[in-house]
Amino acid sequence: MNSLLTDSFGRRHTYLRIGLTERCNLRCTYCMPAEGVPLKPKAARLTADEIERLVRLFLAEGVNKIRLTGGEPLVRKEAVEIIQRIGRLDGLQELAITTNAILLEDRLPALKAAGLTHLNISLDTLRPERFKQIARRGGFEVVLSAIDAALASGYGTSEWPLKVNAVVMRGVNDDELTDFVAWTRDTPIEVRFIEYMPFDGNGWADAALVPLAEMRERVEDKFGPLDALPGQPEDTATTFRVPGFAGSVGFIASMTVPFCAGCNRLRITADGSFKVCLFGPKEVSLRDLMRNGAGDDELRGVIGVAVNGKKAAHAGMDVLARTQNRPMILIGG
Ligand code: SAM
Ligand code: SF4
Repeated sequence: MNSLLTDSFGRRHTYLRIGLTERCNLRCTYCMPAEGVPLKPKAARLTADEIERLVRLFLAEGVNKIRLTGGEPLVRKEAVEIIQRIGRLDGLQELAITTNAILLEDRLPALKAAGLTHLNISLDTLRPERFKQIARRGGFEVVLSAIDAALASGYGTSEWPLKVNAVVMRGVNDDELTDFVAWTRDTPIEVRFIEYMPFDGNGWADAALVPLAEMRERVEDKFGPLDALPGQPEDTATTFRVPGFAGSVGFIASMTVPFCAGCNRLRITADGSFKVCLFGPKEVSLRDLMRNGAGDDELRGVIGVAVNGKKAAHAGMDVLARTQNRPMILIGG
């Protein structure tokens, strides 16, 4: 079972991330070049029917977790409808979204009812002024209010986890690590510190990267030794808890401790390109195949070849910084 999505290193791919749109209502410095990115016309984007077709196909091949991302997934008008359609399909164990939460609060009841089990909200600072600098837009209070609403509607449990993602950049927000951790004292969220990754046009310099080891040390200097929480081989985050705190702290060290060995993730971009590695420039357009009349067997064939060609590990941060790949906004994290 599931051989189509098992690669030549024996990694079974059970997790599919889908971009709903390339558009975004924020302009985060680490994600997008200052001048924005050229957006493709709407016709280039997978339709809701095409997304559902692909999701069905991947679920039949053993995927059990789907995450919607972007751009900002909730900017797409049909986002709730698409999530409802996916939520009805058999074989799904986890339905997740990564969002900046600007448009989340009103949509929360519908998303929860649709079976959205995992909610990840990106928030890189707890200071309103700094939010404007990093996101190049306002909206800090809106995001905090959405987080409160998510907690009130039942997210923040092991079954319905609520995670807050912060990209940590030296000299930008790394002085807030302990403020974020203090937030988990009474709030049942998982704060996740993400190492800053290089992408086309985000001005990455290795001096701006704060490695996991340093982040952890700084947190432990303030709160004492962290308790390690159990994890799975495919987890991107290593998670901890300050003893006695309600929430937890995760570190995503894509740069200094790559998690390629346990990688179970596949990606489809908003314009329908299939990517087997976040950092790999290789992609194949499932959209074009579908629009040229490919049947499911043909799609499966192409998907199988791509999965089989997945490399053992990504190239390492110096090479990545020089490799041409899409900016993050066009991949979706
Ligand atoms: N707009 C949504 C959001 O911000 O949550 C979803 C898309 S965003 C591209 C997905 C995730 O990628 C976010 O958590 C964001 O912080 C992260 N991200 C973007 N650029 C990054 C970078 N250069 N290094 C590390 N993480 C990055
Ligand atoms: Fe938009 Fe998310 Fe990228 Fe920020 S990280 S610019 S919110 S896609």
